[in-house]
Amino acid sequence: MGGCVSSVDEFGDIEPIRRNHEYCDWLDWKRRFHDTINSKNLHQELSHILGPTLKEVIGPYGIEIIENFQFRESHQKLNFHILLRKLDIFFYLRRFPRNPTESITEYRDRLLPIATDFGIKYPEIAIKEKITFDLKTNHFVENLNGLVSIRNKITALKLLNMEEIIFLVNISENWEARKRRDDFLKRIEKEGFRQLRNENCCGSNHLQDRICQAKGERCWKCDGLNHFAKTCRKRYIRDCINCGINHAEGKCGAFGKECSRCEGFNHFHWKCLPAMRVHCPYCGGSHIDIARRCLAFARTCSNCQRVGHFSTMCRYKRLR
Ligand SMILES: [Zn+2]
Ligand SMILES: [Zn+2]
Ligand SMILES: [Zn+2]
Ligand SMILES: [Zn+2]
Ligand SMILES: [Zn+2]
Ligand SMILES: [Zn+2]
Repeated sequence: MGGCVSSVDEFGDIEPIRRNHEYCDWLDWKRRFHDTINSKNLHQELSHILGPTLKEVIGPYGIEIIENFQFRESHQKLNFHILLRKLDIFFYLRRFPRNPTESITEYRDRLLPIATDFGIKYPEIAIKEKITFDLKTNHFVENLNGLVSIRNKITALKLLNMEEIIFLVNISENWEARKRRDDFLKRIEKEGFRQLRNENCCGSNHLQDRICQAKGERCWKCDGLNHFAKTCRKRYIRDCINCGINHAEGKCGAFGKECSRCEGFNHFHWKCLPAMRVHCPYCGGSHIDIARRCLAFARTCSNCQRVGHFSTMCRYKRLR
């Protein structure tokens, strides 16, 4: 039997993994899977053949987990050993759910040493997979509608980077407070004509600084100290072109952050501007319309020796 392409029927007595499977259930499943491989003498088969076998035997829930995995190289998707290791990590990290009182950033920071102690080589990727899987289960992307303005549809959470995911989680978890602030600012904008006696701090007249009602208070608009929103001099930006939400000027959450779509800075994936280039004349593929995202970028054509396109896309006469 060794060396042949394995048949899924040979694993017939192994049940697909289930939603309530815990780490020990997974280890048990994995042991039975390995036993079958050994007893049928399949272990000589190549790992890229056993990869698809694993995907068939593991069942729909397992596939859901695997689809959320991120691979550094596309051929790793079918590698049996890499898949098993990633599943080990998935079920292990599931033992550490997020606490209700914990912010998403605190949770990420708590998982980091846990992942490192477990010997995970790329803990950031493993933690991102853990968090995106939880969010997917809660239909997170679908529920973002109306909370953030989106120019580029988020087709899969795993395409975003961790900073973008953290931003979105914070937006969706604090939407009520944000809505109250927006409504309040709209109201005081309407009342804006009313003359304030004092335009510096609390809006009312007083002689000494220490009796100011705004002393030690934070502004609801800009989060600055010692003044109220009605006297705030910061502009309030609605539907920011870089992050997609409303905030005071200078308070953009995308500032200094990297975009996962174009790898540029100061905006997020869902507000990224470059269009898609379909059937690129230089590489033949589809990618966003930025030179360095082209697969043929800086590559030399084997036909004309010019840089920036593949020989399959060469417009010059064949030299050989
Ligand atoms: Zn005052
Ligand atoms: Zn302010
Ligand atoms: Zn912004
Ligand atoms: Zn971008
Ligand atoms: Zn291209
Ligand atoms: Zn060429």
